[in-house]
Formats: sequence, structure tokens, C-alpha cells
Amino acid sequence: MPYKFSFDLSRVPRSFFRGLVRAAYEKNMHKRIGRGVRQLAKKLKIRELTGLNISDASMLVEDLVDIQIRNLLYREKFLKTKKRALFLPHCSRKYMDNRCQARFDPKIPSYYCAHCSSDCLINKATALGKERGYGVYVLPGGTCIPQILKKNPYEGVVGVACSQELKKGGGFLKNKNLPGQAVFLIKNGCANTKFNLKSLKEILMKTGFKSTE
Ligand code: SF4
Repeated sequence: MPYKFSFDLSRVPRSFFRGLVRAAYEKNMHKRIGRGVRQLAKKLKIRELTGLNISDASMLVEDLVDIQIRNLLYREKFLKTKKRALFLPHCSRKYMDNRCQARFDPKIPSYYCAHCSSDCLINKATALGKERGYGVYVLPGGTCIPQILKKNPYEGVVGVACSQELKKGGGFLKNKNLPGQAVFLIKNGCANTKFNLKSLKEILMKTGFKSTE
């Protein structure tokens, strides 16, 4: 039902909206809206579209809301950073066997895409990250992140992963006081995982930093 009043929020400072998101996040309000999330999952036919039961679908939607709130919360701080890293999941490579020409460097630790397939999601995301000045890493798991951040003084991080990994990573970054932005997988699993390239494009912003990785 439309509002019975008109409003113009253009004079409300942005800090108010930031404060609103922060308050909602800190008070775990998004966790308390379980019923609303379940109704949304039902309305959007998440169960029919994904084959998930309603409880799993609700949990997923709740986690996605959580990620979006964190993105909003840290966006401004993230945009002020100059040197940034992009962490991509190795399970989104086109091939998981030796047809993938990526070199793995255990000292980093990261895969380095050799660009063997133009339709490989990791190839496209790597190009996107490098174009925008990010240090790009293709990780076999989230445990590689502390090692990379220890060796490289990144000021901001973009991570692509499943929502559970993103939640874990978000906690780690918070402890390190590093602003992060996240893109969640739209298809999870051990291989052939997928993320939305357009969402990644929107999250990545050009930095002044010239990538050497
Ligand atoms: S394009 Fe890169 S990541 Fe994809 S299969 Fe080839 S070497 Fe591996």
C-alpha cells in the first residue's frame, strides 16, 4: 500500500542512513526478522527455484541479507583505500583437472590463471580485477587469506566465496580493521561454482594502485 504522505529525504545526511544500517547490524536486527525472511523466501519461490527446504532457504536469504548489510556498512571506508586485493575461489575455474593451465604457487599461496579459456569465470574475473588495479589471488581456501595479508599491506579486500566463508572472512577482516566487500556464490559446491560477474564489476572500483601480482 503506498504511503498516505509524501516525503523528500534529499536533505537527510548520508550519515543517518549509515547509522541506521550500523544500528540494525549491531543489534542483530536482521537475525530477528526470521519470519519476514521466511515470507520473502516463500514469495520469491526460493524453494521451488533452488530445491532447498524452507529452513535452508531462509538461512541462505538471512546470510545474503547479512552480507549486503556488511557491504553497505564498510563501503565508504573501502572506497577510501588505495591498495586492494581480490580473492577468488579456485572452484569457479572452468576445469578442476590438468586442463586448467593455472600455476599454483604454494609460497603465496595462490593459483595464477594462464588464461587458457576465454569463457572461464576466473579468467574474466582476474582480468577485471587487474584492469582495476587489484592484486588478484585465486584461492584453494579461506585459510590462505591471513598468509597473503601478512605479506602484503593491503588496505581493502574484495572476496568472492560462498556465504558461510564470507561470514567467516568478514569476522577476520573486522579483527584486522580492514574494510571488505563481498560477492557471494550463486552456485556452491566443490567444482563449477558460479558468481555473478556483473555484481563483481559493481563492487570493484578503480584504484590508484598498479597490480604486480
Ligand atoms: S582460464 Fe585460467 S583458471 Fe580458467 S581454466 Fe584456464 S588457466 Fe584455469
